[in-house]
Amino acid sequence: MSLVLDDILKGRRRVALGGHVRPDGDCVGSCLGLYMYLKEQYPETATDVYLENVPEAFSMIQCTDEVKTEIGEADAYDLFICLDCGDVKRLGFAETLFESAAETVCIDHHASNEAFADHNYIVPDASSTSELVYNLLDREKISKRTAEALYMGIAHDTGVFQYSCTSPETMEIAADLMRKGINGNEIIERTYYEKTYVQNQILGRALLESMLILDKRCIVSVVREKEMEFFQAVPADLEGIVSQLRQTKGVEVAMFLHETAPQQFKVSLRSKGNVDVSRIAVYFGGGGHVNAAGVTMKGSSHDVINNISRQILLQLDKNTEQDEDR
Ligand code: 5GP
Ligand code: MN
Repeated sequence: MSLVLDDILKGRRRVALGGHVRPDGDCVGSCLGLYMYLKEQYPETATDVYLENVPEAFSMIQCTDEVKTEIGEADAYDLFICLDCGDVKRLGFAETLFESAAETVCIDHHASNEAFADHNYIVPDASSTSELVYNLLDREKISKRTAEALYMGIAHDTGVFQYSCTSPETMEIAADLMRKGINGNEIIERTYYEKTYVQNQILGRALLESMLILDKRCIVSVVREKEMEFFQAVPADLEGIVSQLRQTKGVEVAMFLHETAPQQFKVSLRSKGNVDVSRIAVYFGGGGHVNAAGVTMKGSSHDVINNISRQILLQLDKNTEQDEDR
């Protein structure tokens, strides 16, 4: 089901937007893109956007300095629009605003999303939430700065128009956004490819320490708290490591563990398509997409790797059996 912006915004005085914890390119792009459009096209509505700290690399997107990183006055909102967030818990500190809002909307493309808002626009096949936001807007009224935000979101969640979620419609939308006069190359270079020295160092460390398991069909790497301290890295510096691991020839799945507390790991999973990593993440309490998913798990890194590998193997074995039956 789609939404009509005019209908959902009718009579709203105060609207809040929010995305998932540790906001990535699509989360920031979809939230800021919609935020700027609402400010321009619905000036009578007071709109705020709530996100955890936006990574420095995204600061070239306009209005990122207006993002609220904590809840101020206690007034409830008439409407809360949740973007790129597969489950209400992933809203982080903004969850209380979602709960207290008179009405809620969810715009998302996570396969694991259970449609938790009053109005839901969830399309698991869509490349990105930014693409879904574009579909809700009046094309003629999209400003250059909104186009920049949405273009960044689409470019990030498609791995720069490479992943299988990139449809002909995705490319048409990107083309339309380019016609707004944006500098697409610069957006991709500065927000996606450019790495700080620290980011490259920790990437190098993760690649050097990686291991092939499950008969070389899976690659695993772990970054611990003490290494983060040594390199003076922050969690956002780890973005992209799992995609690099996934590029390894011959592997079906990449698994990247980041130690977030003693005996606790944020796990990122990436697949080339034969294993549904969303199913595995959901099984352990997380979520995501068929080819990209994540979950936080407790235990030693050994236990976490073993538990996830078992689920990967179940799917790999099933696929092999099916191939033999053919
Ligand atoms: P990443 O590995 O880059 O953190 O996340 C990959 C995908 O899985 C993203 O779409 C992200 O929103 C989703 N994801 C990551 N961690 C979690 C989690 O703990 N819970 C849920 N529901 N989704 C997650
Ligand atoms: Mn997304």
